[in-house]
Amino acid sequence: MKKDFFIDIAQIKQKSKSKAIENQELKKYLSVFSSTEIDQKVFAIAAEVSASIDCLACANCCKNLEPELKKEEISHLANLKGMEAADFAQEYIHSDLVEDIDFLKQKPCVFLADKACTIYAERPFSCADYPHLYKPYFKYRLKSILRNYELCPIVFHTVEELKVHLMK
Ligand code: SF4
Ligand code: SF4
Repeated sequence: MKKDFFIDIAQIKQKSKSKAIENQELKKYLSVFSSTEIDQKVFAIAAEVSASIDCLACANCCKNLEPELKKEEISHLANLKGMEAADFAQEYIHSDLVEDIDFLKQKPCVFLADKACTIYAERPFSCADYPHLYKPYFKYRLKSILRNYELCPIVFHTVEELKVHLMK
């Protein structure tokens, strides 16, 4: 059954601030459970939250993040844009030379039109995987999860629902 989760980013940012201390405490609650138990809870909650939120009404990730790209994705994206890979890289890619990681650098994303991804079926892996809630080891990834908490309504509500489950 769909639940009524708010997705207004200003409201989420405001609530995030007021929950900063509570979120620091969350680590303590997570420590009581095994990593597998936490992951099972998170997967179930994230599925329920995701089914109740329409990303096409949000697109906040595509407006604010710089998705990481695999090397082989760069030429594919250039192709989709009708550009040579070198030209595409120069205009749209930021490379971290120390870590050897490439990112799409334009914000909002160059492939975003209104609130929809124009290359949805062929979007980069890191976009398809976002907001990274179905990866294992949630309890050890809490810091990075909380970086997305005030940016993504799915993350915000998954964490809030998790608190209700753990703290009841
Ligand atoms: S993944 Fe999160 S931030 Fe991105 S569109 Fe969906 S709800 Fe919004
Ligand atoms: S490629 Fe598509 S899904 Fe990825 S950030 Fe750009 S618009 Fe969003």
